[in-house]
Amino acid sequence: MATEDQEARSAAGRALAALRPTVTGACAVCGAPFETIKAGRRPKRFCSTRCQVRAWRAAKRAEQAKGD
Ligand SMILES: [Zn+2]
Repeated sequence: MATEDQEARSAAGRALAALRPTVTGACAVCGAPFETIKAGRRPKRFCSTRCQVRAWRAAKRAEQAKGD
């Protein structure tokens, strides 16, 4: 039965999602709270790619200011 199979699969997916350890972090740039999957590596520090880029640019600027 195809529908039962799909049902079982989505149930398994939900169970896996519930098992996945998530951590709530605060964005280092804008301070917005975000959830990230704790996957062994160091957790994400930014809520979005936009904030990541902003932080990268700020670091780059600080580096240049130091050099002058
Ligand atoms: Zn942010």
